[in-house]
Amino acid sequence: MRSSRHPRPLVVAVVAALALAAGAAPAAAHPRPVDKVPVAVGTGGAVATVDADATRVGIDVLRRGGNAVDAAVAAAATLGVTEPFSSGIGGGGFFVYYDAASGTVHTIDGRETAPLAMRSDSFVENGVPIPPADAVTSGLSVGVPGTPATWQTALDQWGSISLRTALRGATDVARRGFVVDQTFVDQTAANVTRFSAFRSSADLFLRRGALPTVGSVFRNPDLADTYDLLGRKGVGELYTGRLAREIVTTVQRPPVRRHSPLVVRPGLLERADLAAYVAPLREPTLVSYRGLDVYGMAPPSSGGSTVGEALNILEALPATADRTQTLHRYLEASALAFADRNRFVGDPAFVEVPLRELLSDGFAAERACQVGATALTKPVAPGTPDGDYTGCPVPAAAGTEGSDGQSTTHLTTADRWGNVVAYTLTIESLGGNGIVVPGRGFLLNNELTDFNFTDTQDGTDPNLPGPGKRPRSSMAPTIILADGSPFLALGSPGGSTIITTVLQVLVNRLDLGMTLEEAVAAPRATQRNTAAVQAEPGFDRAPLQALGHTFADNPEIGAATAIEHRDDGSLLAVAEPTRRGGGSAAVVHRP
Ligand code: GLU
Repeated sequence: MRSSRHPRPLVVAVVAALALAAGAAPAAAHPRPVDKVPVAVGTGGAVATVDADATRVGIDVLRRGGNAVDAAVAAAATLGVTEPFSSGIGGGGFFVYYDAASGTVHTIDGRETAPLAMRSDSFVENGVPIPPADAVTSGLSVGVPGTPATWQTALDQWGSISLRTALRGATDVARRGFVVDQTFVDQTAANVTRFSAFRSSADLFLRRGALPTVGSVFRNPDLADTYDLLGRKGVGELYTGRLAREIVTTVQRPPVRRHSPLVVRPGLLERADLAAYVAPLREPTLVSYRGLDVYGMAPPSSGGSTVGEALNILEALPATADRTQTLHRYLEASALAFADRNRFVGDPAFVEVPLRELLSDGFAAERACQVGATALTKPVAPGTPDGDYTGCPVPAAAGTEGSDGQSTTHLTTADRWGNVVAYTLTIESLGGNGIVVPGRGFLLNNELTDFNFTDTQDGTDPNLPGPGKRPRSSMAPTIILADGSPFLALGSPGGSTIITTVLQVLVNRLDLGMTLEEAVAAPRATQRNTAAVQAEPGFDRAPLQALGHTFADNPEIGAATAIEHRDDGSLLAVAEPTRRGGGSAAVVHRP
């Protein structure tokens, strides 16, 4: 541990808050593109996100005395401005935090929650699931947002500044604007049909009916005002105040334009659902891998359990220095762990998740005995995490994998006191449900499409919709300690490929001897218990094809960020060099 100091004492907090407030004066009138680099090494704290403005705002908070939690909230709020199609206050996420003062890891479950009126067949009409494209753009798919409650909870628990102060940098970016890049244009273009269907969305993102252009300045004064409101009145405004009423109205009567070709179903959300929302603290998942302690997100995310089970399976196999065998095992362990995820993991308030068994060495050994020199036929069946691990059982019939979206964002922060945050947040689909709350500048989530609409598991599906239930997630913010001190923190977007992205970066870094930059940049492959492995174009398939793996193309998998605490005491912050247009890493002090 580098230092166990933590900036909680009142005087430090007040000084930090004053410094942050003083620094909030508007800067240059016309925003310029912010330089971004994917790798930074230094001291005093670090931030890695997909976006240069968000990273800059996070670093500013650290420079002025804020801690890793303050920086994470400030950066996340900025992503709500500059990456509005992947995250924002209309969505949810999972926050994992290493507290240097106590040497402990904590998590916040900020997952969106289904309305109380939701039933297991709410996404079924006349006996058939409603078309996925309809569900994605609907009121029906909107869960109670968890992101505002996550920010407030994180700041209350471990932060040193108020929400108002934490939102200041983001508010400034929303008001002054940011310079549009190609990724923003592409992501808007991917949503043109949906945004055109709603006046509020078209007014914000398709001004004068057109796409924004690269190099133009995008301002979102409505969102600046909304952040101001939350800063002044607190997040209660979104759960019980006027904003809550507006969200309910938008969900129940989506502002669809007349003559829109889209079928937009209304949602079930009521004010009481918003008022009842909490973002609970949850015990993190924990497995040991290669002598390191790997902490992750517990259910309702399947991130921690699936990454953890796969690592346990890998560790249960005999050591190998062979690169092809290492990648073969990564694919096999991932498929086995996904079979178990699909069968056993859902909202723990509704289903009994055998988490302890799923993460036990005994179960991992039983699953590992299925892994041979060549590829298993996929899909593989789930195992039996019952505490009795004596044989190598013959698998029963396999269930199928549900589907996930391809959006979301992950950020990682570290401060000079040794605190670390890994935070993944989302509005589910790219563009959420496509509906901007009128006059408020943010999109609503369509997270409830993460439920399985019908049973995928022979009558035992743990992820069917339910009243007040949280849909299973794949988000996998992960923090790894070495001898009780932070070593590595990471995460990624990408639907269920989040899990394999985190796993592959870890295998690259810990087993294949890559540096963190190489581990993040390396071409990816994902095996989620499907017939074919999906792989990026650069992934070397031939040696694995020789072992029986079949492949399908996936142009781009994930967009990771990570921070490593190096032996010399410095921090290495890493983002993607090219995926999603490249990310942004920065440190407080460069050598
Ligand atoms: N909603 C997904 C989840 O929670 C993430 C969406 C994405 O990454 O595209 O697992």
